[in-house]
Amino acid sequence: MIVTRFAPSPTGTLHVGNIRTALHNWMFARAHGGRFLLRIDDTDAQRSEERFVDAIRADLAWLGLVPDAEERQSARVARYETVFEELRAAGHIYPAYETAQELDLKRKIARGRGLPPVYDRAALSLTDDERARLEGDGVRPHWRFRLDHDAPIAWDDLIRGPQSFDPRTMSDPVIRRADGSWLYMLPSAIDDRDMGVTHVVRGEDHVTNTALQLQMFAAMGAAPPAFAHEALLTGAEGKLSKRLGSLGVEALRAEGVEPAAIVSLLARLGTSQPVEPLADPAPLVAAFDFAQFGRAPARFDERELAQVNARIVHQLTFEAVADRLPPGMDAAAWEAVRPNLSTVAEAADWWAVVEGPVAAPAPDADDAAYLQKAAAVARTIDWGADPWHALTAALKEATGRKGKPLFLPLRRALTGRDHGPDMAALLPLIGRARAVARLDSNTGA
Ligand code: GLU
Repeated sequence: MIVTRFAPSPTGTLHVGNIRTALHNWMFARAHGGRFLLRIDDTDAQRSEERFVDAIRADLAWLGLVPDAEERQSARVARYETVFEELRAAGHIYPAYETAQELDLKRKIARGRGLPPVYDRAALSLTDDERARLEGDGVRPHWRFRLDHDAPIAWDDLIRGPQSFDPRTMSDPVIRRADGSWLYMLPSAIDDRDMGVTHVVRGEDHVTNTALQLQMFAAMGAAPPAFAHEALLTGAEGKLSKRLGSLGVEALRAEGVEPAAIVSLLARLGTSQPVEPLADPAPLVAAFDFAQFGRAPARFDERELAQVNARIVHQLTFEAVADRLPPGMDAAAWEAVRPNLSTVAEAADWWAVVEGPVAAPAPDADDAAYLQKAAAVARTIDWGADPWHALTAALKEATGRKGKPLFLPLRRALTGRDHGPDMAALLPLIGRARAVARLDSNTGA
């Protein structure tokens, strides 16, 4: 059974980058009939806020990425304590007493000597007496995980391929602060083990953490999950943009972006597969494959999102949008205007055109006479079948006009605009009475 998890820290709302991570975790689990967990990484009590937990849940629900279960790190601290004690008893965790300033100085000295700023493990050589003295002086230790230096850390990343780290070039990570609070690293590994997570899918900014966490899994005697580290997203200009870091569901939704557009674009961005705008993500899920992901940063372009969105809107059924349409707008009206929309909200503009009044530009004398004729014809045609073709066929016959001179004055008089939905679909919605009045008013009648 495949188990994935999306593990946001509730210190803010989701942005495009972590929406993408959530999506891929969800897709992979769905593609394999597995489970997708939402894990709230709220060990940082100072920065975590309940309103962000709620916003994360709401955003995922809006996107259709519904988790099978939700977990919360703040509810699991007793468990972390237990594992911590086990690992400490087994010598995998040790106390360290350096202040931040001392550590900073050590790093500076190492750099000055041209060495990597790796923690020197001085705390490991403290005698029991020295430790007792420090604690007697009221110095409380923070805690480090002792890396096993014996063998390289290696894994076959599902996106990046074979990875290898030399643990001797890495500092023993601090896993717990002097005040007892937890850093992200160990609780995450404990959770992944306890929750049976089989695949950790996250951004490549976590690659080094994975090396460290692999040793934590080993120390716990647990088989590690598989890892897939995704290349990061950049803005259209190819850089990590500030806008991208803050662009979230709320802003996208306000711009009329459909969840399916976000899903369609982010499902394929950075992969070798083309973006397919699909209102139903099932085919995207079925085709999901880490082997298709590239290592180059993926470019997120809001213009591309707008294009994908328009193509999604053109597929949405009336049932899917009914509660967002103006009162009175029915399925026929939705289908008539849908091909012209970039967003669902724009349907209301066309509905206003149908209902009127419309402000049409004054026609020149020729067109005024033509519209007068059109009004007369409109009174006589059969409105039950296909009034637009009946009207234009009769006018073509009567006036000899064709093409633009035949159609454009009618469109202008009837809608007040030069462009828009197919008139054959729009005219029955406008209806006989309004159409005749609009054609008439353009003749000055
Ligand atoms: N809370 C971590 C983050 O948001 C989770 C990383 C992970 O997926 O393990 O970066």
